[in-house]
Amino acid sequence: MEGVIKPELARCLRTLCLPAFGANHAAHAAMAAAEGWSYDRYLLALCELELGQRERRRKERMLLASKLPRSKTLESFDRTRLKTGVNRQISALQEGEFLDRAENVLVFGPPGGGKTHLLSGLGHALVERGRTVLFASCVLLVQRLLLAKTELKLAKELKALDRYEALIIDDIGYVQQDRDEMEVLFTLLAHRYEQRSVLLTSNLVFSEWERIFKDPMTTAAAIDRLVHHSVILELNLPSYRMETAKGRKAKPAPSPTAAAAKTLVGEADDAL
Ligand code: ADP
Ligand code: MG
Repeated sequence: MEGVIKPELARCLRTLCLPAFGANHAAHAAMAAAEGWSYDRYLLALCELELGQRERRRKERMLLASKLPRSKTLESFDRTRLKTGVNRQISALQEGEFLDRAENVLVFGPPGGGKTHLLSGLGHALVERGRTVLFASCVLLVQRLLLAKTELKLAKELKALDRYEALIIDDIGYVQQDRDEMEVLFTLLAHRYEQRSVLLTSNLVFSEWERIFKDPMTTAAAIDRLVHHSVILELNLPSYRMETAKGRKAKPAPSPTAAAAKTLVGEADDAL
């Protein structure tokens, strides 16, 4: 009998999909015997291992599904560049409760200031808390919706996006859109209004949004829906890349060319 127990146990654990039990029960049994654990304690230790592994795998799957840029996390984001108020808001948003209230997060600022990185970092933090997130560039998202519309599947596609508690739309208004593109974007925003959160980045301030939605009525309606329940983060920061390039250039002993380069960078910053 003893001889068949081990293979039979391995088979049962496989069938029950308990890989952590399979990998750890023998070592834990030795530990339990050496330290005089009760049966309950032994079982609990294995259950906790299994649940821990499951949770890690689930987060890994959610991270893959989120399409978040892997390296753009809050850990790799220099938060000292942010104003205290924005920093405080980011800390609060990381908790994820705004998603339960279907609130939006709107991030504005000139190019290179860190809008995409910041929202991506927030997305990572939300996935870590078990929230469902999808990161998409506005251009690609609109293409996806347009395709669904021509195939008469727009409603289905919008429903598929409902799976995500947080939809990050990166760079709204970056590329000039035609009327059809604007319409599906508006339909998406109206669909999620008060149901699901939208997190977006834009280089354009609201007064320039007519470029996106073409006519004043649609523009006002889109802004109204987004802003109604929202947190607005103004990232009026100089370009991070320019700043770090400046830092690197500033280190060597000043030479006339370095000084000229610095001036150029400074001017470019002002132009953003
Ligand atoms: P934006 O979306 O505002 O145009 P990005 O988020 O794309 O700016 O930032 C431009 C580059 O600078 C990216 O490579 C980003 O990782 C980096 N970056 C921006 N801000 C920071 C920051 N505060 N800490 C670390 N890296 C940053
Ligand atoms: Mg960006």
